[in-house]
Amino acid sequence: MTQSIPRQCHTPVKGSAERRGGPVVVIGAGPYGLSVAAHLRAAGVKVLVFGEVMGSWRHAMATGMFLKSTPAATDLSAPAAGGRLADFRHERGEPELTELTPIPCEVFVAYGMWFTDRFVGEVTARHVTSVDRAPGGFTVRLEDEDPVAASAVVVATGLRPMAHIPQHLLRLAPAGPGPDTVLSHTSHHTDLSRYAGQRVAVVGGGQSALESAALLHEAGAHPHVLVRSRTVRWGATPAPHRPLIERLARPASPLGTGWALAGLCHAPQALSRLPAPARLLVHHRALGPSGGWWLRARVEGVVPLHTDRHITQAHLADDQAHLRLTGKGGGRFRFTADHVLAATGYRIDIGALPFLPPPLREAIARVPGSHAPHLTGAFESTVPGLYFTGSLAAPMFGPMLRFVAGTAFAARRITRHLQRHAPGR
Ligand SMILES: Cc1cc2nc3c(=O)[nH]c(=O)nc-3n(C[C@H](O)[C@H](O)[C@H](O)COP(=O)(O)OP(=O)(O)OC[C@H]3O[C@@H](n4cnc5c(N)ncnc54)[C@H](O)[C@@H]3O)c2cc1C
Repeated sequence: MTQSIPRQCHTPVKGSAERRGGPVVVIGAGPYGLSVAAHLRAAGVKVLVFGEVMGSWRHAMATGMFLKSTPAATDLSAPAAGGRLADFRHERGEPELTELTPIPCEVFVAYGMWFTDRFVGEVTARHVTSVDRAPGGFTVRLEDEDPVAASAVVVATGLRPMAHIPQHLLRLAPAGPGPDTVLSHTSHHTDLSRYAGQRVAVVGGGQSALESAALLHEAGAHPHVLVRSRTVRWGATPAPHRPLIERLARPASPLGTGWALAGLCHAPQALSRLPAPARLLVHHRALGPSGGWWLRARVEGVVPLHTDRHITQAHLADDQAHLRLTGKGGGRFRFTADHVLAATGYRIDIGALPFLPPPLREAIARVPGSHAPHLTGAFESTVPGLYFTGSLAAPMFGPMLRFVAGTAFAARRITRHLQRHAPGR
């Protein structure tokens, strides 16, 4: 389970020689941080992992949520056999999950804890407050701990620091959005039942919006989903035993069926060699917003879905949110809500990572036209020894890196590179 490692295991900050021989620090203990750490440890690289095991899945997902990905696309990457979600279920004597059984978040959290015990070992449940360049590597500062000297740093901090709320909605919460104000982001919540009896405008048309609306309704709230697009898209119910001809026409992949998605999953390195505008186009267009197939019956005909609605203005009066919208045929609408829940996703932006001080941030080259780090094939940024993985790497390697399915690709490449460059060995 999540544990602090004994202090003597840290490499306290000293000179450049100690840094050069110091450990690799992994920031974040979600699916990517855990997978990278598991591979590094198996390769004999000294590694320290900071963060709460599966922290985002415990604190930034509402109770009652399910994963959208299928069990086969939800395996963390272990350096040896026996680390799949199916192995975890089997060891516990629980039935194997199939494409037709959505995975509850708490099952995924338990799987992450089990994976940590088995393949990662000790994780220090501390927040990293800053990373600075220092001779021979980096100095990593933590809350309530001595700084640590690192030869290399792998940033695996996920999406949460990059939660995005459109500017015009921010006027609803002058002191900042949060569950106790009129405006919040889906990542602020673990329990949506606090809005029971209230009228809630859910802004967005993807899985987060639709699942939050279902949970709000089931908790006794009155959600209305405000969607920009003209229709709400739903995933197709999986067909586990498809005929050969159909499998050839639309091959399966961790991201769904079809040749385009299969290509993106099988050759993320090829995508990284495309010109930046092409890569960004794929990043923005692949896998647009949609709801999981299993969610449809809980939303359609149950929760009001207002499509083709664009919020143009928002203001606060009498503790309520007053929204102005445009829509079909240039029509104008007004909507009043007790609470506005922004299910408006995340923006990849290294400027939003609070632990990167400006001098380090400015030394990291971006993918042209974005705020994402430009990375080598081994996930290393233009600051030698500083690596980024997970969603932060999606503008380089494509949409698979936004999902757990990308952990094997990332963990193997980062480990191979760090092993060759032998820090901390
Ligand atoms: C609502 C929602 C549903 C999703 N559903 C799916 C799904 O069904 N299937 C799928 O494949 N993907 C899904 N995703 C995407 C999902 O985020 C990733 O697949 C997966 O969690 C990425 O792992 P990660 O390790 O990059 O990030 P995370 O899981 O977010 O882990 C990052 C970790 O870093 C820690 N951290 C952050 N800052 C610091 C710091 N300064 N110091 C120390 N630790 C820090 C966090 O606490 C967290 O534990 C979903 C995302 C959201 C938001």
